[in-house]
Amino acid sequence: MSMDAGNFSQRLAVVRERIASACARAGRDPEAVTLVAVAKNFGPEAVAEAAGCGLAVFGENRVQEARQKIPLCPGRLEWHLVGHLQRNKVREAVRLFRMIHSIDSASILDAVERVCAEEGCVVRACLEVNVSGEGTKFGFAPDAVPPVLERRDLAHVDLVGLMTIPPLAPESEAARPAFRRLRQLRDEWRASCGVDLPELSMGMSEDFEVAIEEGATLVRIGTLLFGPRQRADRQTDEGAEAGGG
Ligand SMILES: *Cc1c(COP(=O)(O)O)cnc(C)c1O
Repeated sequence: MSMDAGNFSQRLAVVRERIASACARAGRDPEAVTLVAVAKNFGPEAVAEAAGCGLAVFGENRVQEARQKIPLCPGRLEWHLVGHLQRNKVREAVRLFRMIHSIDSASILDAVERVCAEEGCVVRACLEVNVSGEGTKFGFAPDAVPPVLERRDLAHVDLVGLMTIPPLAPESEAARPAFRRLRQLRDEWRASCGVDLPELSMGMSEDFEVAIEEGATLVRIGTLLFGPRQRADRQTDEGAEAGGG
């Protein structure tokens, strides 16, 4: 399916307008919401077109795909990893991505810290929190987060916020409790752990307006910008450690 620039810029305009309306409803500044264009399953041409329309922040959910795509894209773009990260792909991930939304276990956090120290870089990161205890097999249980936030040994991982993926539901409103809970947890941990955590990565094509009403600062949008994906989302395969890479 090919899409011309006119179509892309129209879709982007609609998304921006919906972001602005959601911000207005919530009394928030639209500047406080960053649109992360999730380009998975779309090639460098689609990214170049999006960049030509002014988008600067792009998301990928698989390191393997990003490794091939990013070198073929305009160089000035900022790339974020939004999907599950496997341990054997950490080095490549910290070279490719400015930010990792999906730090989902203490062991992957340790691996990222160690590899960034070796590489001499600092990566921005969100902890993925499994707020509802279902809907995703990845993420920290809420109880496991404060000990991580109290760590003072993370010199190469800048923990800037939290991320969540709500359980799949037919209605965007169904995601609201998970988004609200993430913000409440952030506010609690801000007070109890002495961390700022300004970023809340929550909301995708189906539910980003609800997420913005609940405080999202990073919305991860693919389908509404690029159109339906041709191939199935491979995130599940990526997560399968057995034989994975
Ligand atoms: C694919 C993906 C998105 C974007 O999803 P859309 O529904 O296409 O907007 C956002 N976040 C993550 C983690 C994803 O894997």
